[in-house]
Amino acid sequence: MAGKAVVALIAAVAATLGLGWDAASAGVERLYVLDCGENIGKDQSRWSPGVNAGKAIEFSDNCYLIRHDRGLLLWDTGIPDSVAAMPDGMVVANGAITYRRAKTLAAQLEQIGIKPADVTYVAVSHTHGDHVGNVALFPTSTVLIQGAEYDWAMAGPAKPGFVATQKIEKLTGDRDVFGDGTVKIVATPGHTPGHQSLLVQLPKTGWLLLSGDAVHFQDNWTHKRVPSMNFNRDQTLASLKRLESLLEERKAQLWINHDKPQSATMRYAPAFYE
Ligand SMILES: [Zn+2]
Repeated sequence: MAGKAVVALIAAVAATLGLGWDAASAGVERLYVLDCGENIGKDQSRWSPGVNAGKAIEFSDNCYLIRHDRGLLLWDTGIPDSVAAMPDGMVVANGAITYRRAKTLAAQLEQIGIKPADVTYVAVSHTHGDHVGNVALFPTSTVLIQGAEYDWAMAGPAKPGFVATQKIEKLTGDRDVFGDGTVKIVATPGHTPGHQSLLVQLPKTGWLLLSGDAVHFQDNWTHKRVPSMNFNRDQTLASLKRLESLLEERKAQLWINHDKPQSATMRYAPAFYE
């Protein structure tokens, strides 16, 4: 059998088995970690009921830009860029959290030669302010969000700044973004009604699971703690189980967005992961 025929056969078999293997796609080329700010929480027990009450906690806040041969996907948009110009940061959540930003998302994208118009998809883990703060920077991108999240956020007091020119794709569950199985949105509700996480396959680094705010920091992951402000406790616990089985199944690394010690070990843009 000629090489081309073998490839076609393998692709057909993979497609039948639902493996998402796609001969025509080179997959993910790069992943950049972008500094999308910092949250200073007054009281850790807001996220870990009964644990470290009254003790402050600092969270990292990252955005991730994924370059696939079929387009660019930005995962989360972070704290608003305007916060970078506020010397004392921005106080939110009735004083419980202070946002800070050392540099803007716009400047970091510019540094790696990316214009907002180059970004095909902006996918948000959920609609809290430290994740959708710069969604309006991308007026020509398609927004990937769970329908349940969109409806909930738009009915609430703090509506995300979506712009009229954006195409909003309201998902119902998982989505294979580029159709080759390498970038997959997985529904992980609980923190909010339509919270979602992202599973990414990099050629050298392997599988990564970007958990959004399904979990906030390592100790909460270890003990499967559910923050008191979460929308639904049972959904949260089910989503943590789902993440656990995905990690096991793909031998993936768990990247916990808000875990500051873990973020401190990461290579930030302009460096990247392959
Ligand atoms: Zn968050």
